[in-house]
Amino acid sequence: MDELLALYKKMGLSEAVYARGERVLGSLAGRFAAIDQTAEYNQTKVLAAFQKHRVSAACFTPSTGYGYDDLGRDTLEKVYAEIFHTEAALVRPQITCGTHALALALAANLLPGDELLSPAGLPYDTLQEVIGIRESVGSLAEYGVSYRQVDLLPDGSFDYDGIRSAIGEKTKLITVQRSKGYDPRPTFSVAQIGELIAFCKSIKPDIRVMVDNCYGEFVERIEPSDVGADMVVGSLIKNPGGGLAPTGGYICGTESCIHRCACRLSAPGLGREVGSNMGMLTSLYEGLFLAPTVVAGAEKGAIFAAALYEPLGFRCIPAASEERHDIIQAVELGSEEAMKAFCAGIQAAAPVDSFAVPLPWDMPGYDSQVIMAAGAFIQGSSIELSADGPIRPPYAVYFQGGLTWLHAKFGILMSLQKLIDAQIVQI
Ligand SMILES: *Cc1c(COP(=O)(O)O)cnc(C)c1O
Repeated sequence: MDELLALYKKMGLSEAVYARGERVLGSLAGRFAAIDQTAEYNQTKVLAAFQKHRVSAACFTPSTGYGYDDLGRDTLEKVYAEIFHTEAALVRPQITCGTHALALALAANLLPGDELLSPAGLPYDTLQEVIGIRESVGSLAEYGVSYRQVDLLPDGSFDYDGIRSAIGEKTKLITVQRSKGYDPRPTFSVAQIGELIAFCKSIKPDIRVMVDNCYGEFVERIEPSDVGADMVVGSLIKNPGGGLAPTGGYICGTESCIHRCACRLSAPGLGREVGSNMGMLTSLYEGLFLAPTVVAGAEKGAIFAAALYEPLGFRCIPAASEERHDIIQAVELGSEEAMKAFCAGIQAAAPVDSFAVPLPWDMPGYDSQVIMAAGAFIQGSSIELSADGPIRPPYAVYFQGGLTWLHAKFGILMSLQKLIDAQIVQI
């Protein structure tokens, strides 16, 4: 232990912060064991899918051009469909990010005159332009798709009466966001999403439901597609890419929904038959294989952060003792200076760009400045250790990821160290 401490000290971590971290860790053994059990279950689920669909070395062969008869691509989609218990899947490097995957799923399954309903309040920032809540070129609104929203009740639960009266003749698709994203509301459990879906389908049986699954994959043993979602959608540079996928997105769902998505992504008549894998398949398979363990490490980091910061008087969402349904941890730090110090600590702990100092900047699309800490192998990857937040009250940083639990631990300890060094916190 002395050797480790000596090394940590050389990297800027004090003995006091390290010791405090160890004490906090002592209280988390039960939580960590439960996370490991879920990870073991999900790893086995993933492994079984690889075996059932006979993943072989031939699946890692790069393809070019049209990508006809791409065994690796087609097998990967079968593996995803198996894991999510859906009829089909679209998993492609041509899907550039989570927002693209969500926009694709919506645009492919909504026609002029249809209405999209969000029964859980305002969707994620970037989706607002996709839908046309904020005016934007190419939005669903431009194509004659209308939008309706029912806000959550003050206690964060679903407004079932409001939802009942919002579902009408035109309502075709429902969008539900699992993770809180950058909102202070709680993240929904898969069971809660299941209740919402059952309710909506009891009112209108042919209604379709899409779930934005970003940051939620492998946190529980089941996914929203296990409780009635027609499509689950996410980014490969978050949970299911396991930190190795260099880019991409996925949509898992019913054959009819996925077929429409594929015809929209490539072209009508071409569908899933085209799309080269650009030599990425080894990373997509290997990342998926590692994902349950990587997610478990990120979750441990989130719980450790809450357990470390809550006793110091900072509000944490979710609270340290709360059950978790995604990997995001918000910590309300109360000042711009504290946000800078926290982010400086995360950055200083990074394997890449550790020498950089994160500063607030005017990010397009936000009305306040935003600060971001990320020293990632993959640009923008938020399954890697990262923290960001808008510079405005309550001055919350949203912290997530960590390719290994031990790296997440070091990053969180360094964030506290920087708060102490800046004389914002005393321990
Ligand atoms: C990250 C995220 C998105 C968008 O993903 P990008 O890959 O950044 O485009 C959408 N919804 C939620 C809830 C997210 O967390």
